[in-house]
Amino acid sequence: MFDSHIHISEEYKSATEAIAALQRILSENNVKGGILIPLLNSKYSLESILEASKQSFNLKIVPHLNPMDNGFDPKTIYDLVDKGIVGIKLHPRRDTYNLTGERIYEVIRIAGELNLTVNICSFWDGTWSRYGLTIDSFGDLADKFPGTRFVWCHFGGHKILDFMMMLRRRDNVFADTSLVQDYFFKGSVKEDLIYVLESLKGERILFGSDFPEKSYEDILESSIAFYEKFLDEKYRVSILEKILVGNFHLAYPNSILFYRQA
Ligand SMILES: [Zn+2]
Repeated sequence: MFDSHIHISEEYKSATEAIAALQRILSENNVKGGILIPLLNSKYSLESILEASKQSFNLKIVPHLNPMDNGFDPKTIYDLVDKGIVGIKLHPRRDTYNLTGERIYEVIRIAGELNLTVNICSFWDGTWSRYGLTIDSFGDLADKFPGTRFVWCHFGGHKILDFMMMLRRRDNVFADTSLVQDYFFKGSVKEDLIYVLESLKGERILFGSDFPEKSYEDILESSIAFYEKFLDEKYRVSILEKILVGNFHLAYPNSILFYRQA
């Protein structure tokens, strides 16, 4: 299986040690590889993570960038591509902006031109109205850039049904299951997630763990067991094949080495 949403653990001395430890954990848990998302507040520099992961052909880097930061120059994306990134991550919730305006569009335009996948955090945490973020702004952005691939990380949180409807109408959008599959310990969201997986037959949905928020033992035992238990028998195998393996190739067609490892 692949994991489309991994972060680097901050408990090591250096990025090299953290990547080595991550590789160990992945292989112990039979995870073939995945997308590593270095966050802007990480104690390791992006440079050191890129350098440390150079030989890790099964880990692809999708760095968190902040287009609204005055010190950020969108042209740095060209250099990052030379260093092997396969996508970029935008975090409007953490960086408190909405998805409109020239700064955002410039970054998406460059990402599209370079065939990068644009990941955007879509977890509805109750603060969106403070910075003008709306559910529709995700669909609108995907419509404005129909030739660019987007991944809506966390599938909208408990707004998953709204995000499913938007995803259904847009071929250029994927969504990952991280956080939405284990944040809500009671209530209807898990049932909604199963419904969404069956309704879309697993198309354009990616499994994500949000490691190290939870350990792999935890996430594999709870999430995979949950999917195996509740997905309808008729589609279970094909949905799991798509979200754990098949859809990665579609979401990250620029990861050639990634395929070879698969
Ligand atoms: Zn995350």
